[in-house]
Amino acid sequence: MLARPRPAALAALLVALLAPAGRADTAAGLAAIREESVRASVEHLASDALEGRGSGARGGHAAGEWLAGQLAALGLAPAGDDGYFQPFEAQGQRMRNVLAHLPGREPGEAVVIGAHYDHLGLGHQQGSLEFLRGRGRVHNGADDNASGTAAVLEVARAFVASGLQPRRRVVFAFFDGEERGLLGSTHYVEQATGERVALMINLDMVGRLRRAVTVYGANTGDRLAGWLEEANRPLGLELDLRRSMTPNSDHWPFYQRRVPVLMPFTGLHTDYHRPSDVVARLNVEGIARIARLCFGVAALAADAEDAAVFAEAPDGTGEAVLEQLQAMLGVERFGERLRELRERLGVGEGEGLERVGERLRDLLGGRGRGERGPAARPRLGVTLEGGGPGARVQAVTPGSLAERAGVRPGDRIVRFGGAEVRDPDGLRALVAGARGPVEVEVERRGGRAVVVARFPGEAPAPVPDADGRRWF
Ligand SMILES: [Zn+2]
Repeated sequence: MLARPRPAALAALLVALLAPAGRADTAAGLAAIREESVRASVEHLASDALEGRGSGARGGHAAGEWLAGQLAALGLAPAGDDGYFQPFEAQGQRMRNVLAHLPGREPGEAVVIGAHYDHLGLGHQQGSLEFLRGRGRVHNGADDNASGTAAVLEVARAFVASGLQPRRRVVFAFFDGEERGLLGSTHYVEQATGERVALMINLDMVGRLRRAVTVYGANTGDRLAGWLEEANRPLGLELDLRRSMTPNSDHWPFYQRRVPVLMPFTGLHTDYHRPSDVVARLNVEGIARIARLCFGVAALAADAEDAAVFAEAPDGTGEAVLEQLQAMLGVERFGERLRELRERLGVGEGEGLERVGERLRDLLGGRGRGERGPAARPRLGVTLEGGGPGARVQAVTPGSLAERAGVRPGDRIVRFGGAEVRDPDGLRALVAGARGPVEVEVERRGGRAVVVARFPGEAPAPVPDADGRRWF
C-alpha cells in the first residue's frame, strides 16, 4: 500500500520537477548565505587582535592566514601561486592576495568576485582621517572592508552549497594593499594574462545598508542591469544604479582593461577611515542581502552563453573626491545635495564638476562664461522668504548681481523692471525674463529705494523656476 504523500514533500517534488534547470541550485546557494556567518566573519576580521589588517603588517598577515583557512574549510580549490596565496612586493612591503576558485566547464574566461581585506592597521600608514591622533590606534575597518571580505566569503559559500558547475571559472579574490593604492588588484590583473575576465564584482564597504544599495558599473556591460534585476527579484533590495566610474577601489584595474565591473556600495559615513569604523555600527543583515545579490548576478554571469559587452562609463572622480571630503568633514547628505544641485542645474552625471561650477556662476550673477555663453539664465542671487506682499530678501549671495546692485538682506522687493512684484514666485518669473539693466524697487526700513541690477544683455528668454525651491 502506498503511503499518503505529505503535501510539503509533494510540493518540493513539484518545484524540483518544474523549476528551470539551475533554479533549485541557486535557491540552495541563497539559503546558504546566513547572517550568523557574516557576523562571525566581520567580528573576527575587525577584531582588535587583527590590528586593523595593515598590509605587510602582522595583523594583515594573520587576516590572510585566516581567509586561506576559511577557503580550505569550504573545500574550494586554491588559485594562488603558493596555495591560496599570491605573494607580491610593493612599496617595500611584502603582501599577499588570497585566491580560490571554482573551475569552469570551459576554459579561457572567468568571473572574479573580489574584496580587499587590508585596512589602515594602526594608523601609521597613510589614509587615516584621524591624522596624527589616529597613530597607534587600531583602525578596525569593519565597514572598510571586513564587510566586503565577509560578503565574498558568503558568495563562495553559496557557490559551494549550490553545487553549480558554471561555464566560466569563478574566482574568489581577497586583495591586499588596496588602501595603499589598489596594489593587490593591480598585481592580480597584471598576472592574469591569457584569461578574459567576463565580469568583476568588487565588494568594498557594503556594511552600512540603509534604504538603498548604491551600485556602480551597471552600465559598463550591456547585460549587467538585466542580471541585477533578475538576481534581485527574490530579494527585493532597493537598487540605486549610478553611471559614473571612479578609480577609488579594486574594480578600477579591471575596468581599465575593459572588463565590465559592478560595485555595490552602502555609502560613506563619518567613521570612514577612522578608528570608529567598528562592528557595532554595521548592518550585518544588509551584508548578507548584498552577498545574495552578488551570488545571483555572479551565477548568471558565470553561466551565460554570451558574456556582457564592455562599455565605458562617465568619470565620477569629482563626485568621489567631494563625497570623501564630506566624510572627512562629517557633513551628512552631501552627495544627495550634489545630485539635487546637478538636477536643478541640468548638468548630467557624465559632465564634470567644473560644469557644475560654471552653471552656478552663470546663475549667481551672470559672471564667468555665463555672460557670453548661450546657456546663461538670469539670476539675481538672493534667497527669498516665503509669502508676499513683494519678495523679502533673506540673504544676498556674495559676488552676485544683486549684491553688486546694492540689494541688502531685509529688503522687500516690490517692483521689478516696472512690474509689480506680488510674491517670491512672481519675482522669480520676472527675473527669469530679465536682460540688460533693470530697475529694482525695494522697501527698506520704512522707506523705498531703487537700485539697478545689470543682467547679461544677450541672454535668451529662460524658463522660470517651477517650484521655487532653494538650493542652499
Ligand atoms: Zn578604505
